[in-house]
Amino acid sequence: MARKKQFKAESKRLLDLMINSIYTHKEIFLRELISNASDAIDKYYYEHAGHVSPDEFSIRIEANKEARTLTITDNGIGMSKEELEENLGTIAKSGSLAFKEQIEDESKSDVDIIGQFGVGFYSAFMVAKDVVVISKKDGEDMAYRWQSDGESGYTIEEAQMDSHGSQIILTLKENTDNDKYSQYLETYELKELVRKYSDYIRYPIKMNVETS
Ligand code: ADP
Ligand code: MG
Repeated sequence: MARKKQFKAESKRLLDLMINSIYTHKEIFLRELISNASDAIDKYYYEHAGHVSPDEFSIRIEANKEARTLTITDNGIGMSKEELEENLGTIAKSGSLAFKEQIEDESKSDVDIIGQFGVGFYSAFMVAKDVVVISKKDGEDMAYRWQSDGESGYTIEEAQMDSHGSQIILTLKENTDNDKYSQYLETYELKELVRKYSDYIRYPIKMNVETS
């Protein structure tokens, strides 16, 4: 078993906020993950400019109803072990000073903060009780698996992956009176969200929903 590592203090606050969020537009997590996938493909594409064509790239969304998992896969630049640690263990560069101040201001509600800023990767914890990121950095042999419940820290261990890129696997929370997380496993709902938030993404978004 890999040893658990702790999140930085400011990340903890943001994660707390995400996990206990009463924000009504939790669906934006999908926009954030798709935009990260698209950014990662852009980076790969520009690093290999002239040697690759845009149609070699895609973003895959797969839902498994039985396992309650939603998986977003890209064949972009990927992340090394160090990058997984740095990028997912601390508030990203998007965590500007202003953002940190808002987070530290206890009087601000999560609704204010989430609405006002792009919250990035951590928004996955608004809908997921467990998040796994399997990633292989372009040019490296080894892949790594980052895992967290958002509360008790995270682990990183070696993993297998055929090609460069990243796979984000969300295990969705159970439905509550207020939130029907199972909706994010439905083709119709997923298509709607992609249309609503990710229409501008220039790589194809492919969808596959398994019922069992
Ligand atoms: P932002 O996208 O604003 O930088 P995020 O919280 O969304 O903030 O993501 C944090 C960082 O994690 C990104 O800047 C990127 O370096 C890395 N990252 C997230 N998702 C991916 C992915 N699918 N592929 C490669 N890197 C990723
Ligand atoms: Mg982002």
